[in-house]
Amino acid sequence: MAILKKAGKYWGIKKMQDNMWIKIGLEVHVQIGSLTKMYCRCQNDNSDENPNTRVCPTCLGLPGSLPVLNERVIEMAARVAFGLGCRVNNRSKFDRKNYFYPDLPKGYQITQYFLPLAQDGMVELAEEEKNIMIRINRLHLEEDTAKMIHAGGESLLDFNRCGIPLMEIVTEPDFVSSGQAVNFLKDLRDLVRWLGVSQARMQHGELRCDANISLWQGKKQLGEVVEIKNLNSLKNVKAAIEYEFVRQKSLLAKGIRIGKETRGWNAVLGETVGQREKEKAHDYRYFPEPDLPELEMGEDFLAEIKKGMPILPEQIKERMQSEYFLDKKVETVFFADMDYFDFFEKVVSELKVWLEQKRVDWKERVGSEEVFFNKVAGYVLTDFRRLVRESGGWKECRVTPENFAELVAMFLAGEINNQIMKKILTKMIHATSSPLQIAEENGWLGAKSQFDLDAVVEGVIVENGRQVNEYKQGKEQLLAYFLGQVMKKTGGLAKPDEARAALLKKLRG
Ligand code: ZN
Ligand code: MN
Repeated sequence: MAILKKAGKYWGIKKMQDNMWIKIGLEVHVQIGSLTKMYCRCQNDNSDENPNTRVCPTCLGLPGSLPVLNERVIEMAARVAFGLGCRVNNRSKFDRKNYFYPDLPKGYQITQYFLPLAQDGMVELAEEEKNIMIRINRLHLEEDTAKMIHAGGESLLDFNRCGIPLMEIVTEPDFVSSGQAVNFLKDLRDLVRWLGVSQARMQHGELRCDANISLWQGKKQLGEVVEIKNLNSLKNVKAAIEYEFVRQKSLLAKGIRIGKETRGWNAVLGETVGQREKEKAHDYRYFPEPDLPELEMGEDFLAEIKKGMPILPEQIKERMQSEYFLDKKVETVFFADMDYFDFFEKVVSELKVWLEQKRVDWKERVGSEEVFFNKVAGYVLTDFRRLVRESGGWKECRVTPENFAELVAMFLAGEINNQIMKKILTKMIHATSSPLQIAEENGWLGAKSQFDLDAVVEGVIVENGRQVNEYKQGKEQLLAYFLGQVMKKTGGLAKPDEARAALLKKLRG
């Protein structure tokens, strides 16, 4: 299963002239938007409001308190795991990761080390030439720490964040440019939002990223893996990776060895800063969490979660292309607001019925299926979308897909022209009557009989003697001007083809 493909521009570093290149792996922490925290029933709210009010003995790590696992968090994380093509393990376990830091009152973090929730995923990442596959090593659950605020020479702690559920997604080092890493993060962000698991706003710390970087020359690894911690914006991810590439390269040129290291990103200086030599797993003395039982998930439980998954963006995109041949631009607009795509699909199926009824061969009318679907998408996304917005959104909109399809069918059958179509649509937004009723009420049907096209054309030619002379001397673009005059005089009711033919006949005569 793959996540949202994007025709992202290719940028960043790839192969250098000296055949040096960079390998990047990502570790991404995403807050899970459950109602309550991971191991207690405190409210899960990431805002900075009212610090230290959403706490209890458990998330404060007081002695004697016990964690209770939030089942909803398991479901939400499993959705993401499925979305990333992972295998969700029937059995997984929780472990203690021991370390001391002021933001971790228990002295350990409950995480999943030995047996994570999910493993072995794979996503497809769009590249300009050829899509690449990114392997997902694992997805595991853990808890967030308190928030440290450094202000006025003091360090303050807000424990509201303590115990907010996190999923950590670890990729294999399959990225070879900063651009790929950033595009992956965008796709991941879209996916968790799509699945309703997290808002994933990086500026609020709901999605945070560490990057593991190593330099290679041909097939030879040049230095150890350097980890850059806590990148909190896409801009910083890109900048830090690119900075690190240059830094390591210049060290190597001086013959300096690159050791395993953890670095931070200083966004003000625009450089990475050494923090500590990277600790090894044994430094944390991971051991099984004795206060939580092993997590056992039956096939039924997992099947239920799978069944509840919405169609993934990737699958919808596939349908947009293979079923409707939609232009890339149209696709993007639909993706920004899927309600319109929903509406479009319903209109298309209704429209086929209407056209059959009116005995209109739409293929003959518009050329090909591709043109047809893009045209219909255009009707939905231009005037209609504008009208829906202006009139207060979908809730206020009275247009049913069936009525909209009838309107388009009337147009394709030549019963109304473009202008009348717009006029009817404007009235349809608030009315419950059908386009046919509206057209009849306003005398917009059979409008042709309300004016004499030849007379109108004659009038336009007589009134524009100077322009007619210029036209006859070769200024042929004036035909559009005459046509505009005819449309104006007929209130937009003349059919452009007929008006053009009548004009040409008169001008030649
Ligand atoms: Zn709590
Ligand atoms: Mn972690």
